[in-house]
Amino acid sequence: MLRTDSFKARAFETRAFKARTFETRTFKSSSFKTDKRKVNRINAHYDVVILGGGPAGLAAAIAIRTANLNKHTNVSVLVVERQSPGQERLGENCPPEIVLLLKQLGVAKEFYQDNHEPCPGYASVWGRPTPGYNDFIVNPLGPSWRLNRIAFDKMLAKRAEDCGAQITWSTRFIGTDIVPQTASHHAHTLHLTQGTDRHPQTVTAGFVIDATGSKARFARTLNIQKTVDDQLFATVRFAHVASGKGSKQIQLEATQQGWCYQALLPEQKVVSMIVSEREIIPHLREGNHQGFEEALATTTFVGPSVNKLEITNPSYHSCAIYSGILPTLEGSNWMAVGDAATSFDPISAQGIYKGLSHGLLAAKKVKDWLENNSSECSDYSQMLQKQYRVYQNNRIHMYSLEQRWRECDFWRKRIHTPPMNLAL
Ligand SMILES: Cc1cc2nc3c(=O)[nH]c(=O)nc-3n(C[C@H](O)[C@H](O)[C@H](O)COP(=O)(O)OP(=O)(O)OC[C@H]3O[C@@H](n4cnc5c(N)ncnc54)[C@H](O)[C@@H]3O)c2cc1C
Repeated sequence: MLRTDSFKARAFETRAFKARTFETRTFKSSSFKTDKRKVNRINAHYDVVILGGGPAGLAAAIAIRTANLNKHTNVSVLVVERQSPGQERLGENCPPEIVLLLKQLGVAKEFYQDNHEPCPGYASVWGRPTPGYNDFIVNPLGPSWRLNRIAFDKMLAKRAEDCGAQITWSTRFIGTDIVPQTASHHAHTLHLTQGTDRHPQTVTAGFVIDATGSKARFARTLNIQKTVDDQLFATVRFAHVASGKGSKQIQLEATQQGWCYQALLPEQKVVSMIVSEREIIPHLREGNHQGFEEALATTTFVGPSVNKLEITNPSYHSCAIYSGILPTLEGSNWMAVGDAATSFDPISAQGIYKGLSHGLLAAKKVKDWLENNSSECSDYSQMLQKQYRVYQNNRIHMYSLEQRWRECDFWRKRIHTPPMNLAL
């Protein structure tokens, strides 16, 4: 099931939104743990190789292994993930509808057992100087969720392995060759490096799923470049809350130069984020933590709310955020899912949901490929293109709700301008 109109704002009517999607610069949290034992042996060939073990890649692995593939009972699936297991990732807020996808993936029970925090709603200063509130109280699916990302990722990885998929951690995809087999069939030869010593490995795959996040590393090797129509820059701070009581609502605030966000997380953590453009606030660039604190201090809602908490062990992370779509989303024996296929502005807060939904759709494409029914372009492409258009319109709508600084660069570009096309 692909949610085409799920722009986060919809869940909380017009004034509420929040944020955060994108690709990333990966980061190491203080809780980062390397488990070298997980660097494991891989076979020479798999039916399906999934590049990237984020939400989209792991959902694809689960969906393919649990799908009814008729006579194809034992499709071999390898997930190639450059990070180590247990490494913390960016992104923690999910809409209530996520539970529908988790049920389809067979992990709803585990999800409720983990210590994810329900989120009652949003408080946002957007379009006016005082906060507006949007609650999930009327949503029949319940609250949105503030995830314990480590537990969430672990749950998906365990389910994928329990279903029979193999995951090779600390393994990086670096390139591909296409090996012709017959006129209409070809396998992909994938070049990987494993572990910290970058041990080279080669594996062949009948079908490849690009789930490498917004840079779409596999598509790039096929010379398919993302069409990017907006580019933002985020600085994120994670910290432990030593004392103080914050709001369980997610807080969002528009500022003259962008917007900022705060959410309390499970295990006494808090995440704060400032989103703008690299050129507008160069002082926020990576490494300038003082700039982050100063920018937060100038806000009227999020900053004062953060100040009520005594925080310790802050860690800062920066990343570029791209809104974009691949011009070609699939071929006869490959496809892109999640952020590799389409990446959204973090204001949509749809990244994880979108990744899981694309992963679920991958099983159908793989089934078609196994049955020799696959084509270069299927309903999947059309669905994602439509989803992306809906997203673009919603994004413009969201930013248009803030008119106080419509002449400022950040807002002018996003309120009036039709999507631009930038090279990624
Ligand atoms: C600061 C920030 C905040 C966010 N907040 C939210 C949020 O609150 N809610 C939300 O829903 N979404 C959020 N997102 C977006 C969300 O994280 C993504 O949309 C989502 O993770 C997409 O899932 P994915 O599996 O497609 O890609 P990713 O999660 O990016 O996973 C891609 C995986 O591929 C791996 N990979 C990349 N290159 C290679 C390679 N060459 N070889 C092997 N592996 C590779 C990466 O290590 C990564 O694990 C946020 C993103 C950022 C950056």
